[in-house]
Amino acid sequence: MSDNKDNREETEYEDVCYICRRPESKTGKMLHIPQNISICVDCMQRTFDQMDNMSMMPPNFDFGPAFAEIPQAGDNDSDSDKDDDGKSSKKNGPSIRFLNLADMGGLSGIPQSQRVKKAKQKDKVKPVFDITDIPAPHKIKEELDKYVVGQEQAKKVMSVAVYNHYKRIANPNKDGVEIEKSNMLMIGPTGCGKTYLVRTLAKLLDVPLAVTDATSLTEAGYIGDDIESVVSKLLAAADNDIEKAEHGIIFVDEIDKIAKKKNTNQRDVSGESVQQGMLKLLEGAEVEVPVGASSKNAMVPMVTIDTTNILFICGGAFPEMENVIKERLNKSSSMGFMADLKDKYDNDKNILQKVTVEDVRSFGMIPEFIGRLPILFALESLTEDMLVRILKEPKNAIVKQYEELLALDGVKLTFTDEALHEIAKKAMEKEVGARALRAVIEEFMLDIMYETPKDDNIGEVVITKEYLTHTGGPQIKMREFLRAESGQ
Ligand code: ADP
Repeated sequence: MSDNKDNREETEYEDVCYICRRPESKTGKMLHIPQNISICVDCMQRTFDQMDNMSMMPPNFDFGPAFAEIPQAGDNDSDSDKDDDGKSSKKNGPSIRFLNLADMGGLSGIPQSQRVKKAKQKDKVKPVFDITDIPAPHKIKEELDKYVVGQEQAKKVMSVAVYNHYKRIANPNKDGVEIEKSNMLMIGPTGCGKTYLVRTLAKLLDVPLAVTDATSLTEAGYIGDDIESVVSKLLAAADNDIEKAEHGIIFVDEIDKIAKKKNTNQRDVSGESVQQGMLKLLEGAEVEVPVGASSKNAMVPMVTIDTTNILFICGGAFPEMENVIKERLNKSSSMGFMADLKDKYDNDKNILQKVTVEDVRSFGMIPEFIGRLPILFALESLTEDMLVRILKEPKNAIVKQYEELLALDGVKLTFTDEALHEIAKKAMEKEVGARALRAVIEEFMLDIMYETPKDDNIGEVVITKEYLTHTGGPQIKMREFLRAESGQ
């Protein structure tokens, strides 16, 4: 029977009431009628009550053509609308069949994207870490080290924060002590790995991640995404699995763009009020979010998500933050006997690491908002040496990817150290951090990737600095030459 197949597919998903669109987890037990339609007990009761009212109408009441009966398949074997004595009861007004639910859509009429998955799932690939038995922070950092170059302090802080966060979830309210949530605020120039760190962390922990941009958020009712849409995104990332979403991570990028605007009399719909709106989410609240859609409307099923255990990480470049920090440091050191020179901090490369809550506050973030992001840290800006390491060291390093691609054709690809530094230098000029590396490398690798497979005799390609500076070509070694060289 085709129904069997449908039922198998159904088991993964929660049933959704055909009438009120609430999922099983909210409505309680559902009643199932043919055509895979589920109706919650409340709606069914309401329908019966309505029918009761209708049956009080005079028997010859004209319901109009819209209520004309639609004959159904399988009517013949149904005795449901016959009285005990076998006579039809239709004479007492219309039967439920005037509303032919099956005609209104297949498979319970709910689009796939709006169906909620049941909480439990099995047969999954084992993640690197198990959030129910979270490993010690140094183990988390060890894994992060395989992907993220440098940023030692940030990796350390994040490992401890994540460890505490998931330990707190696994042992709720032990000994009556409520452990504070480890939401984080990270500050770092663009392209230094903020998003990458969070993505890597989420991947290692196998938790859903929603990345969103604070600039797109506005107070509810204004054009743009309302604040709760970030939770909706997380639910989608969790394949509509509510339980999974409630243990996920939400990364809000460009958080500095919602800093309070100075000297403005206008209503600040995308700045301070967004910060205000985020407060309850950060702290932990139950929010109603639409399933499979970014906006609420009558046709979309809604679910309630508790954000108490969702880890919020906010990140931003906070331009000019260095000046704010310098100003504070200069102020505090220019008084008294210990007064320092005014330009003491001018050449301090790691000034951002000295960021405090006070600085973030003077930047325009409201105290309540900062208070809900107790872990504050900064990332370093990337140096040329770090960029070279990013090119070759991480597990998925760009250079490794190109090497692998050419190895599939039996060609060895190597980069000289000078060439790697040249790529890093060119990337630095673009001032977008490590993000520029791929663009720079792709620019000249295109020719290599195009020309090399043309000639089967090519055994090795060496990318040199000369090739990158257009003063020479790459070194090409033929297979025979390599064979002779290795003495075979
Ligand atoms: P942002 O700090 O602006 O969020 P991203 O995290 O998006 O920057 O970084 C852009 C890309 O640069 C990442 O996808 C990653 O490949 C690379 N990258 C940046 N920083 C590092 C790093 N420290 N280690 C390895 N790769 C990095």
